[in-house]
Amino acid sequence: MARKRDYYEVLGVARGASPDEIKRAYRKLALKYHPDSYKGDKAEGEAKFKELAEAYEVLSDNVKRQRYDRFGHEGLRGVGVHDYSSMGFGDIFSMFEDIFGGMGFGGRRRTAAAERGYDLETEVELTLEQVATGVDQTLEFERMDLCDTCAGSGAKPGSSPKRCGTCGGHGQVQQQVESLLGLSVRIVTCPRCQGKGSLVDDPCKDCRGSGRRKKKRVLTVHIPPGVHDGQVVRMRGEGEPGQAGTSRGDLHCYVRVGPHPLLSRHGNDLVCQVPIGFAQAALGARIQVPTLSGMEEIKIPPGTQNADIVTLSRRGLPSPRTGRRGDLHVQLFVEIPKKLTQKQRELLSAYAQTEETNVSPQRKSFFEKLKEYFASK
Ligand SMILES: [Zn+2]
Ligand SMILES: [Zn+2]
Repeated sequence: MARKRDYYEVLGVARGASPDEIKRAYRKLALKYHPDSYKGDKAEGEAKFKELAEAYEVLSDNVKRQRYDRFGHEGLRGVGVHDYSSMGFGDIFSMFEDIFGGMGFGGRRRTAAAERGYDLETEVELTLEQVATGVDQTLEFERMDLCDTCAGSGAKPGSSPKRCGTCGGHGQVQQQVESLLGLSVRIVTCPRCQGKGSLVDDPCKDCRGSGRRKKKRVLTVHIPPGVHDGQVVRMRGEGEPGQAGTSRGDLHCYVRVGPHPLLSRHGNDLVCQVPIGFAQAALGARIQVPTLSGMEEIKIPPGTQNADIVTLSRRGLPSPRTGRRGDLHVQLFVEIPKKLTQKQRELLSAYAQTEETNVSPQRKSFFEKLKEYFASK
């Protein structure tokens, strides 16, 4: 998943913008990128339009905006922000009807009866240890759900909704519009029932006739081993309920993999950078290195060079497809001491004297090349 842009930037407003300024900015930009009016690239316009809707949903909601201001995109995890990427324009327009109402963009709305519930988006953050084993994570989020009192009908218990006479239960009506091209007929959302196809005479008090109430939902999502940052685990039917008789939307659970203080991930392999002393590098040593399942001892061979790698096979992460584990590569960095004690200085000086008569093969070939280079000048 691409990193999200700042919502204020998306709407082109200042961080302190008033609700009214946010509303006006959204309305202006959403009309610009609406498919009926946008002249540029279709896919680009659509992506912009959806990005705008998401920014507006968050910044127009007090609770969501406060969390976003304090914690950024991370803060919206579990708050139940809609996943616009899977929604059609008609759905988005009908969500913000108060803004677009009467602007003449109703024609794209599908028949009320066919509308599936909205998808929701949430995030889980895992450690590398959790990625290695897979995890059952408890999610807690809010969604609009069917009202318990009226079972979603919107009608007071004991009464029932009746079919809307204006649209005959279709949720849409034909409307004559006058434009530069003359009179034409357009299909619009029924103004009487707002597309529901039914009317409630005696509304349910708990949901004020909407049939929906905000509810907290707690569920467990199983994240399989080996997932990658940005991967989505879809939970079918855990989104919002659709219009009467249609299926619920889905919950899209984005996986974030948090950074590990010692190990970095490269595909299914892990890399750990470990400092060693130059005497350890020269003489060889046994050292303890971190793995995902605790410390492990490795053997450094004598004559280890800076940035050499010792590989521990099958200590990486499992492949999500085959389950086969990657490797852990320990990269060794030789540290040269910045300060020496008197004793160390003496020992190293003595060592240096032996080095002049005992030049290592690599240095020898370097000095030979050096000599040849200057001899040819
Ligand atoms: Zn109700
Ligand atoms: Zn109607």
